[in-house]
Amino acid sequence: MRALSITLVGLMLVSATGAVAQTPAAREHALLHGLTRDVQPDRMRADITALVGFGTRHTMSETASDTRGIGAARRWAQAQFEQISGDCGGCLTIVTPSATITAARIPTPTEVVNVVAIQRGTGDPNRVIIISGHIDSRVTDVANFADDAPGANDDASGVAAVLEAARVLSRHRFDATLVYAVLSGEEQGLFGGKILADYARAQGWRVEANLNNDIVGNSEGQSGVRDTTRVRVFSEGTKTVETEAQEERRRYNGGEVDSSSRNLARFVDGMADRYLTNFDVEMIYRTDRYGRGGDQVEMLRAGFPAVRISEGAENYDRQHQDVRIESGVHYGDTIDGVDFDYLGQVARLNIVSMAALANAPASSLGVTIEGAVKPDTTIKWQAVPGAAGYRVWWRSTTAPQWTHSRWAGSASELVLPGIVIDDFFFGVSTVSDDGYESPVVFPGPAGSFVSVGDPAPRPAN
Ligand SMILES: [Zn+2]
Repeated sequence: MRALSITLVGLMLVSATGAVAQTPAAREHALLHGLTRDVQPDRMRADITALVGFGTRHTMSETASDTRGIGAARRWAQAQFEQISGDCGGCLTIVTPSATITAARIPTPTEVVNVVAIQRGTGDPNRVIIISGHIDSRVTDVANFADDAPGANDDASGVAAVLEAARVLSRHRFDATLVYAVLSGEEQGLFGGKILADYARAQGWRVEANLNNDIVGNSEGQSGVRDTTRVRVFSEGTKTVETEAQEERRRYNGGEVDSSSRNLARFVDGMADRYLTNFDVEMIYRTDRYGRGGDQVEMLRAGFPAVRISEGAENYDRQHQDVRIESGVHYGDTIDGVDFDYLGQVARLNIVSMAALANAPASSLGVTIEGAVKPDTTIKWQAVPGAAGYRVWWRSTTAPQWTHSRWAGSASELVLPGIVIDDFFFGVSTVSDDGYESPVVFPGPAGSFVSVGDPAPRPAN
């Protein structure tokens, strides 16, 4: 989506409470432009080279060796975080949440270990923005833990994006907490995502965003098309944790395309439009690729907003394949299939999105809307500590992006005169005094960014 620039600079509006409010000016930030320049694709090349060098990173591969297997790989990831933390005065806390798992694809009890670095927020540390990728790899037979499984693109590319985000963002301080998560056990059943979701709940984190990077480094699709300008962001339309009562209301009044995850995807799309050149987000209105999954699914089951970021054009000959040449065709996920300039763009998108989210105030809670059989629409929300003000957004019910907005000042409601509630979808964003803006929150439980109720039941694996 190209940016729709709605400029209301200098326009004076009278808010619902009668206070005079002025629209904040710039919505672009020099800090974020600077972060895009700090990304170094060569560091990510070194990361992927190191990860491929462990031979296999299969979840059930050996853990004692220092040169081969998942144990060596995750200790390497931990060492990277320790080095990054050393360079920022100990700004990262490194934890290794784990679980011993037996499942359909893990026949013998196996310890699945995530490596997670936490950069504590300076203002609202309980508000958490997470970037993730998975370190485990596989070949054709998902149970084969012995043969080489380079997993250069699936998903050493995602791990490299996580590490690069930590290197770039750890030089700055943010209001919210940033979490850099290297997950394991994905190929055996999304176990790293589950362990991360459980850890987040146990910590009482208010997770506002999980950007899950899985398969983000290849720019040449199986058809031979090469596209370096496009990345896909997958997001669920309705919440995994929606209750039956909520579903009934949503089915009638709308909200099928306005979950917090979907509005997070819109936010990320807006970041590409503003801060990246020759690189755009293709929003995909799906939780994941057709019939396939990723660790963000477990975050969604816990009620957290989460999206999957994946390259624009996948090459299936290079995923989940024994490394071989057959009839002249190269199979296997080797490092020559990674486009590091492309991966750099994906890392930039993640980094500016995380920084923008972490510098914005928290998203609004308790957003409600009313206006049935009235000529005007009224939208209300709870005040957010630290917010300079709020912006009410609306769009046609068939539009993919928010198109219209009004600045509401510091009020906690806004009347839109002559705007009929039936004809649009509405939302509200929170704005800081320096112009950082949260994602737009659709009213009611369909759009809330806060996890509600118990985690959705997990289907038997
Ligand atoms: Zn993957």
